[in-house]
Amino acid sequence: MTGWLAVAGLGPGAEALITPEVTEALATADDLVGYAPYVDRIAQRDGLRRHASDNRVELERAQFALELATAGRRVVLVSSGDPGVFAMAAAVFEALEAGPAAWRDLDIRVLPGVTAMLAAAARAGAPLGHDFCVLNLSDNLKPWSLIETRLRLAVEADFAIALYNPRSKARPEGFARALTLLQDLCRDERPVIFARAVSTGEESLRVLPLQDARPELADMRTLVIVGSSQTRLIERPAGPLVYTPRSATVSVEAP
Ligand code: SAH
Repeated sequence: MTGWLAVAGLGPGAEALITPEVTEALATADDLVGYAPYVDRIAQRDGLRRHASDNRVELERAQFALELATAGRRVVLVSSGDPGVFAMAAAVFEALEAGPAAWRDLDIRVLPGVTAMLAAAARAGAPLGHDFCVLNLSDNLKPWSLIETRLRLAVEADFAIALYNPRSKARPEGFARALTLLQDLCRDERPVIFARAVSTGEESLRVLPLQDARPELADMRTLVIVGSSQTRLIERPAGPLVYTPRSATVSVEAP
């Protein structure tokens, strides 16, 4: 028996948003590895060994999964959303690059998933219909000054901006600073979307003008999308639709 490693995305929460490809990998796996809440999303069956770990040990978890696959096991390493978006796939390749040469002979596949940004955008309408960019607001793995520089440049380029990891209990100030910066830079009526726990039983969606947004509206289960200058609302009795038209009508001044 030859081992393999599939780094799989479980989507934002709903079972209907797990791809058939991921379901098939999970059905044939010997070992399931991942952060405990993600491992908990997979039903137990005979022959499946579960290895749930803490969130902070990404590199060790990646090494562990690579070792299991090297030993001949069929391993699925799970992330939420897409495994390539601020998640385990890059951690696996960091471990692979630094690890034993034998790891490079392994059958490793990355199985995509519906990332939180796409699930959130779909709930709100089509805020990413034109050019956009994506930032992770956590400063665990980069300096805060780089986050501010990227936010400034994203606003200057008039992108819609999706923000992952906006606010945690450990870092409540960062998002407040980011929001103040965005409010100072964007002096218009563009909407901002706070999409929390999308596709789960606790889902909530708030759409409000950026100037009215408050830091408390976000937590670690929230994906924030700040519109571009062109993003607009269609008011409806069932709630607004947010969309960014396909074509841009303003040109951005060169710096
Ligand atoms: N790999 C994941 C992202 C991991 S970073 C993906 O592709 O979605 C974790 C962040 O993702 C959270 O802080 C939050 O900003 C966002 N997120 C994950 N699931 C979410 C959901 N169901 N609803 C809203 N945001 C979510």
